[in-house]
Amino acid sequence: MLHARSAALTPGDPVPEPLVMTSAFALPEQPDPDRTYGRTATPSVSAVEQRLSLIEDAPCLLFPSGMGAYGALLMAALQSGDRVLLLSDGYFAARALTEQILAPFGISMDTVPADGIATAPLEGYAMVVIETPSNPGLQVVDIAAFSARCRAAGARLVVDNTVCTPLLQQPLDLGADAVIVSDTKAMAGHSDLLMGHVASRDTALMEKLHATRTLAGAIPAPMEAWLLLRGLETLEIRLARMCENARAALPLLQNSDKVADVTYPRPHPQAADQGFLVGATFADTPTADRFLSLAGFAPTTSFGGLHSSGDRRARWGDDVPGGFLRLSFGIEPTAQLTAGLTRALERL
Ligand SMILES: *Cc1c(COP(=O)(O)O)cnc(C)c1O
Repeated sequence: MLHARSAALTPGDPVPEPLVMTSAFALPEQPDPDRTYGRTATPSVSAVEQRLSLIEDAPCLLFPSGMGAYGALLMAALQSGDRVLLLSDGYFAARALTEQILAPFGISMDTVPADGIATAPLEGYAMVVIETPSNPGLQVVDIAAFSARCRAAGARLVVDNTVCTPLLQQPLDLGADAVIVSDTKAMAGHSDLLMGHVASRDTALMEKLHATRTLAGAIPAPMEAWLLLRGLETLEIRLARMCENARAALPLLQNSDKVADVTYPRPHPQAADQGFLVGATFADTPTADRFLSLAGFAPTTSFGGLHSSGDRRARWGDDVPGGFLRLSFGIEPTAQLTAGLTRALERL
């Protein structure tokens, strides 16, 4: 991905991807379909989609947020009368979108908890959407086994791969029909933009999705897409440090009498790493808040950024204890991070 541009460089070309801010193009008799009008495609958005395609090993389309990707995919793939199965403990906005916005168009939704999805009946569903590890419970679903069940039931499987990113887990290779990623999180990684994408090897679905994006006007701006590329170019080294930091913090949290329970995704051969998210349950809400402040973790609801952060999920209505924090480990030097955590846990 880093060298995708190198081979085509001619003398005097900029080495990094240039930002092209335009909505309009000079149109010859036979226009290039990617250079007609900025709502269809722009050079910067297409360049980022091509880079994403290299790490997804599949065609990709960018959207202005992860939920933008969800909305367009559900609109493109579903029709009136379809039933959809989602996780009851997955990303809440995916359920709210289906329930509040798509229900009036004749699309109905059922939900199952992540720890029950492997054996849930799948007959009659047009689409099943899972997250693995799930967010915030960090339950792992065996995608290969589950995609075989979806195929047998005639349901399309969509995997939200936001938590792992395509560098740690490749759901399409394990049989998923489409992948959704909120690039707002680890992919962009700097907590300064919203973005999302869909990857799929289903050509007809991707064509419909592109038409949906063009007609609904849901293409990201060139500047934001270009910023995502800056983040993507360092994804591998950021992820490595983030996962290393999570692993270094794990025993400190597990061995502390201030932490009642620690959750971390179980190891599974489908994912290259267990990731950078750790669930930690403190005695109560004030203790959890005090921990964040003592440890210098940003109290934020997002995750996957450079700065270690934590979110008290109960305040968003997740079915978790008041003292539960979803911790997202950043790229701080590991020794300093663990020293800070040790001090924070002692003083708590
Ligand atoms: C954040 C998130 C989304 C939504 O993405 P946005 O970029 O905020 O629209 C979807 N799924 C998961 C798992 C997320 O964490």
